[in-house]
Amino acid sequence: MISPIRGRYAPSPTGGLHLGNARTALVAWLHTRSRGGSFVLRVEDLDSLRCKKGVFEINLAELRWLGLDWDEGPDRGGDFGPYLQSLRTEYYQAMLEKLQPWVSPCYLSRKDLQTLASAPHGLIEGYGLAERALNESLQTEKIASGKQPSLRLRGPQTSVAFEDLLMGPQAFDVGDFVLLRADGEWAYQLAVVADDLAMQISEVVRGDDLLPSTAAQVWLYQLLQRPAPQFLHLPLLLDAQGMRLSKRSGSLTLNEIQKTGLSSERLLGFFAHSLGLLAQSEPLSLPELLTLYSPEKLSREPYQLRPGELGLSA
Ligand code: GLU
Repeated sequence: MISPIRGRYAPSPTGGLHLGNARTALVAWLHTRSRGGSFVLRVEDLDSLRCKKGVFEINLAELRWLGLDWDEGPDRGGDFGPYLQSLRTEYYQAMLEKLQPWVSPCYLSRKDLQTLASAPHGLIEGYGLAERALNESLQTEKIASGKQPSLRLRGPQTSVAFEDLLMGPQAFDVGDFVLLRADGEWAYQLAVVADDLAMQISEVVRGDDLLPSTAAQVWLYQLLQRPAPQFLHLPLLLDAQGMRLSKRSGSLTLNEIQKTGLSSERLLGFFAHSLGLLAQSEPLSLPELLTLYSPEKLSREPYQLRPGELGLSA
């Protein structure tokens, strides 16, 4: 029988997982497993320029090293596959069709958008009424020049509100956002909602840098008249300089950390401490950590790594 509690972790295979990615994956797993739910591993490999071949297999191995397991995923199949977004075009096409009434072609280039004196702040893609008007005024000329449009969803007039399990009530102005890019690639917001719906995901754990994106996704659920999953956004892990970790800026990957000889128990203990689940950073096993987990105990503050913490240099 399929559990009604279904969580997931959805890595983008643009490089190895850094500590922040691994910590989010861990909490997603703990949150689902602590209530006997099914855990799904979905690979978000849509951006063909940024996603590299062979990387998702490395990501899966990194998660296994941490001790995580999943019931469905690209390596083991499942009832809701395929589990690689690059193979799910038909789901995205079907969802785009349902959203047609709210979709418009957008011909504006990045350069066009820069000609507007002040981009509206706070909107997820900085695209509001002025941008819409500019698009309309340039449309005829752009079509004549053969420019391929992206497809944009019209955002709501008012802000989108939702409740986050950890961070409480949230509300964001969303603006218009892209569903299908001009180069033919599906955009994150559409793909993630199409997949979370099709895979019957009931809870989403992700970093709090994605809170505004979640508002865009809640807007999609509202238009589709489908219930949104429960959301839990985690405050980020920051490096010793107070900056967010990123694959691009060369944060150490789990694979590299493993090679330093650090044990996964030590890393789990550090994660537990940084999340507010353990007073001291001391080694512990995943089953031990599972017994400690409860969402009420999670810290609402970002955690800044101390220089040399875990004996790592980055
Ligand atoms: N693929 C996204 C990432 O790796 C996660 C998106 C999500 O959790 O919805 O950051």
